[in-house]
Amino acid sequence: MSTEPTKLAFDDGWQYAPAPESTDHFSIDEQYGLFINGEFVAPEEGRYFETINPATEDTISSVALASKADVDRAVKAARKAYNGKWSKMSGADRGKYIFRIARILQERAREFATVESLDGGKPIRESRDIDIPLAAAHFFYYAGWADKLEYAFPGRTPASLGVAGQVIPWNFPLLMAAWKIAPALACGNTVVLKPAETTPLTALKLAEVIRDAGLPPGVVNIVTGAGETGAAIVNHPDVNKVAFTGSTEVGRLIQRSIAGTGKKYTLELGGKAANVIFADAAIDQAVEGIVNGIFFNQGHVCCAGSRLLVQESVADEVISKLKERMETLIVGDPLDKNTDIGAINSASQLETIQSYLKVGQDEGAVMYQSSCNVPDRGYWCRPTIFTGASQSNRIVQEEIFGPVLAIQTFRTLEEGLTKANNTPYGLSGGVWTDKGAKIFKMTQKIRAGVVWANTFNKFDPTSPFGGYKESGVGREGGLHGLDAYLKLEV
Ligand code: NAP
Ligand code: MG
Repeated sequence: MSTEPTKLAFDDGWQYAPAPESTDHFSIDEQYGLFINGEFVAPEEGRYFETINPATEDTISSVALASKADVDRAVKAARKAYNGKWSKMSGADRGKYIFRIARILQERAREFATVESLDGGKPIRESRDIDIPLAAAHFFYYAGWADKLEYAFPGRTPASLGVAGQVIPWNFPLLMAAWKIAPALACGNTVVLKPAETTPLTALKLAEVIRDAGLPPGVVNIVTGAGETGAAIVNHPDVNKVAFTGSTEVGRLIQRSIAGTGKKYTLELGGKAANVIFADAAIDQAVEGIVNGIFFNQGHVCCAGSRLLVQESVADEVISKLKERMETLIVGDPLDKNTDIGAINSASQLETIQSYLKVGQDEGAVMYQSSCNVPDRGYWCRPTIFTGASQSNRIVQEEIFGPVLAIQTFRTLEEGLTKANNTPYGLSGGVWTDKGAKIFKMTQKIRAGVVWANTFNKFDPTSPFGGYKESGVGREGGLHGLDAYLKLEV
């Protein structure tokens, strides 16, 4: 038998033929207003901003910039809908509306997936197979709870909170909207939601779905804008619950600004998860898990496996297999079904990632990037790893939010565990080993909201999600996700 490594098809310059998703099966309006009280309305100050396609830098559409007065209009509409029909409606009837949203999303799934990839830069394979189906699954899941709330919390009387103010980021635009809106509605609250500035389009299309599902006007309001719009929602005195997903920095600001107001809140913030690979792990599967953990969605994932802790005796093998695998990853057109890594979401995020590439090298770690070509226009980053990183390095401690992996080694389980826990974050983690006992020990001791064993980045609406330490406060998803939108009276 030959001991020569297998020659990959790519070694001969072989390429996949382009397989782009078509864009002729839907339309995007040239301009979008704010979705307030069941209709699209113009912003009071008449200001709009552009949303671009980060893979081409072309403008896709122009979107309303909501002022404080617009946010006030939206909160008033939400309050009126809450006091009117919605809080008095039976759970079974609320459930019917939420099921309808889920079904329309499924019917329009191809359109939503394509728009998500156009507006945010993520590969169509992910939007199609992960973001959109999971968003629909969240609506289905919480629709099912709407008439069963008293069984969810036996011995307690669940009561809705009122108006929920929700602010979401750009990495999973529709999915984050679903995470926030579905449980809020199931529990009888009304909503004012702000999508991120760079990815407003699927939230606006969701507004169309909500209108077409016949929800009473004002139950869901969607206001687009920048950080100030988010702050206006969070600080509005008539908002009863704040749900935020985004950076730890803004999460801190929000926590400070609502302290003492009695508003209930959940914060889903940053992460710096470690994938811990033991020598007895199935190495090929682990390498696939690392790739999925950090290169999935360009590393724009709060629970990304952005650190790799590999047991010393297999470090060379893991790193060499990882480099080989990185060479096969295709970076490019997000609409192409062959693409593994799409565009970085914005110029400013690319700048942040590039500054960390410099920081890593200045700190003395060794950088390796795959040799693939990237398009001339748009925002791109090749998959990158740093070897020889040490625990105090900024690339080990700080969230980069790009396709950049910091690699360290360990000898004993205790050392691996200590290193895994030694960051300010605690959102997620991964363990790769053949031994059940090690899985139990590690999963109990890694201080993170989710720990995956022999897999990574798997999501389900029934499973709670949320962080320890600087990764946030509270849980979303599953039964825990209902608690965040209810008063539980005894
Ligand atoms: P960000 O700057 O915190 O933005 C998140 C959202 O908050 C955006 O809609 C943003 O509006 C808005 N915002 C900005 N300043 C605000 C303020 N003062 N008050 C209220 N809202 C404000 O975060 P990002 O850079 O867009 O997103 C990446 C971060 O999100 C990463 O740190 C990542 O870890 C985290 N994240 C966490 C989770 C989780 O579940 N834990 C999930 C996804 C992402 P603009 O976009 O218009 O500025
Ligand atoms: Mg965009």
